[in-house]
Amino acid sequence: MGSSMKWLKKNIVSKYLMTNCPEKTRCVDLLHRILDGAAEKDEEQYFMDHIEECWGCFQDYKLEHAIRELVKTKLEKKAVPEDLVSSIRQRIDESA
Ligand SMILES: [Zn+2]
Repeated sequence: MGSSMKWLKKNIVSKYLMTNCPEKTRCVDLLHRILDGAAEKDEEQYFMDHIEECWGCFQDYKLEHAIRELVKTKLEKKAVPEDLVSSIRQRIDESA
């Protein structure tokens, strides 16, 4: 997997796609607003079109998205035990 990605990047991406974004600052700002759910629909559309041809921003998007998902899952998991404990306790009380 790792080596085929390298091949892809060397032979395809660098030839046909931008790896250095000419509007990096704007894209990063947009990316964060999209992931926060704060971007306008047309801004989001612009960004989605943009990452089809901008490898750098596509990678950033994937990375940021994965980080946020991870954080979300961790936060949700943290909240689970409390609920679980009380629902188990409730069941025990009901059956007793
Ligand atoms: Zn870009």
